[in-house]
Amino acid sequence: MRLLVVEDEVKLANLLRRGLEEEGYAIDTAADGGEALWLAQENPYDAVVLDVMLPDVDGFEVCRRLRASGRWAPVLMLTARDSVPDRVEGLDAGADDYLTKPFSFAELLARLRALMRRGAPERPATLGVGDLTVDPAGRRVARGDVTIELTPKEFALLEYFARHPGEVLSRSRLIEHVWDFAYDGDSNVVDVYVRYLREKVDRPFGRESIETVRGAGYRLREDDGSPN
Ligand code: CA
Repeated sequence: MRLLVVEDEVKLANLLRRGLEEEGYAIDTAADGGEALWLAQENPYDAVVLDVMLPDVDGFEVCRRLRASGRWAPVLMLTARDSVPDRVEGLDAGADDYLTKPFSFAELLARLRALMRRGAPERPATLGVGDLTVDPAGRRVARGDVTIELTPKEFALLEYFARHPGEVLSRSRLIEHVWDFAYDGDSNVVDVYVRYLREKVDRPFGRESIETVRGAGYRLREDDGSPN
């Protein structure tokens, strides 16, 4: 899941980035409204954390312009004032939820998860592919009844696969959603992490659920992944 964090206070922006990355999200940050609009129109974010008070275009206006240009990623607004007019303006501008500063990181996480679920209402809170279950809220993975331990990055990669079962996902799409905008390393990183995942979710169970599609990328099979 790839998120855009829009916040001009450097300390808070860094704190959010670090915390969210630890949770396995890929994070881009923007320090003003103009940059936020540019990034959000160039990249398919899964959610946007948007501060209201920004140095140039304020958060309300950023949100309005995103919606006007057909960008529907869930927006969580951060407001310093818990005033009714602010909330109303935020919701009118097309925000999905708001959080009043100061907030706890745990609450921010919970709101984001709820928004991303709501953003894809046809999908259940727990993702199931074959006998593989991926629980984004609890950050749990299991094959049948067997719990599988994954690192945050492995989890993020598997979650993205599980949200797109049966689809061929290119390396660049996976990097875009699971790593971040600033990532300019080798796309081999995807191959490396797919190998790690196979070692944990497939090999111990005699499955081959994560397929290599030559010249195209990878696909998580929709069935139970038994060898063909
Ligand atoms: Ca601010």
